[in-house]
Amino acid sequence: MTHRLQHVLVIGAGTVGACCAWHLAAAGHEVTLIDRELPGQTTSSGNAACISPSQVVPFSHPGVWKKLPRWLLDPLGPLTVRWQHLPWVAPWLWRFWRSGTAAGVQRCARAQAALMQQVSDDYAYLLNRAGLNHFLRASGVISVHDTPEAFAADRWVFELEAELGFEWHPLNAGALKELAPALRLDDGVAIFVPSWQNTTNPARMTAAIAEHAMGDGVHWRQGAVSRVQAGTDGVAAVLEGGGKVQADALVVAGGAWSNTLAAQLDFTVPMTAKRGYHTMLPDPGITLDVPIISASRSFVMTPLEDGLRLAGTAEFARLDAAPAYERAAVLVRHAKDYLPGLKTAQASEWMGQRPMMVDSVPIISTSPRHDNVFYAFGHGHYGLTQGPTTGRLIAALVAGEPTGLDMTPYRMDRFS
Ligand SMILES: Cc1cc2nc3c(=O)[nH]c(=O)nc-3n(C[C@H](O)[C@H](O)[C@H](O)COP(=O)(O)OP(=O)(O)OC[C@H]3O[C@@H](n4cnc5c(N)ncnc54)[C@H](O)[C@@H]3O)c2cc1C
Repeated sequence: MTHRLQHVLVIGAGTVGACCAWHLAAAGHEVTLIDRELPGQTTSSGNAACISPSQVVPFSHPGVWKKLPRWLLDPLGPLTVRWQHLPWVAPWLWRFWRSGTAAGVQRCARAQAALMQQVSDDYAYLLNRAGLNHFLRASGVISVHDTPEAFAADRWVFELEAELGFEWHPLNAGALKELAPALRLDDGVAIFVPSWQNTTNPARMTAAIAEHAMGDGVHWRQGAVSRVQAGTDGVAAVLEGGGKVQADALVVAGGAWSNTLAAQLDFTVPMTAKRGYHTMLPDPGITLDVPIISASRSFVMTPLEDGLRLAGTAEFARLDAAPAYERAAVLVRHAKDYLPGLKTAQASEWMGQRPMMVDSVPIISTSPRHDNVFYAFGHGHYGLTQGPTTGRLIAALVAGEPTGLDMTPYRMDRFS
């Protein structure tokens, strides 16, 4: 089928926007990619670097509410709210809580699984075509639980993942020692999930995807978009400090900042910034070949090309609030429990803002009001994982072609 070639404006050059631009250019469109930062420098730069297709269960579920009081009382626990920002986050928390019914969990897990089942093929396709395969390691992940009781409490998550097609198996002590000799788990339980991959550097990989797209003709414009407009005669983005870019169609891929733009074109959706932190250890003194996720302490230890990254935790605060780097430091304390030989010299810290939907399902959608506006944001914990799949789906929506997927669960207007 031939489709009408258009000039498409993509706002946001994180992993999601870069992959949208790449797919749109590959489909023959003229594309302009805009970001106030350089490609891959925002949330997409400092994440845990894991492509984690098995993670389909939404964060709001009946069990999480049992853990919440304990977490909230511990300022350095896996989840915290800056209490002075509670009025800002409370409406989101309320809707998050409401979405966590047993039926909601099933619905959202199935919606995520439909995307996640395509992630590995979409990554392979994009990185192969772009000659960027060297960024990818297919290592699987070791998921550790500090006690058998902790694993028993989470077992339903693994069972639901298996039901939706994501394989896992327990590791006995011998297999664990072989896979991760540096890890100490005492009486804990280790699970191996083979479908995971990881990138050796999410920032460089995202920038390389954007650069490859630029080689394919994508125009790059660095600037902050203050205003967006759409009508039957086209779309426009007005830049702070002057300047306007006009095009036929617009893709909003602004991560946690997308609601500001969506409000001008349609309406806001229940998304908040769920902050996470990392500590980067350039010389960790131990070798890890496979990433390890601590399900009990909600963080990941991932070997990257430039050291070991400890990433995770969740903090709710306003988008513009200053980082609380003690949350990055606490990850080092946790990691030392698991990796006794860990060296922490020259550690650096980072904070990023996950674009988190109440139902943990991203928005990949045509605008309800404008058929030349498209939305690709709200990927929460999995934007790195779902970038290439989102890019492919957005390119199909822009072309008016079938996506091969029921897009209802990802629609912008699913909350109205
Ligand atoms: C600690 C941590 C660990 C994580 N680990 C993983 C992981 O292992 N695997 C995984 O899949 N995901 C992970 N994530 C989540 C992942 O990083 C995000 O889902 C992903 O980066 C979102 O990508 P994005 O392109 O939507 O947003 P971003 O990377 O935030 O990009 C959005 C871009 O839009 C730009 N922008 C927004 N508004 C405007 C405007 N008005 N004008 C100009 N530019 C604008 C911003 O400057 C930004 O560069 C993690 C996140 C954190 C914080």
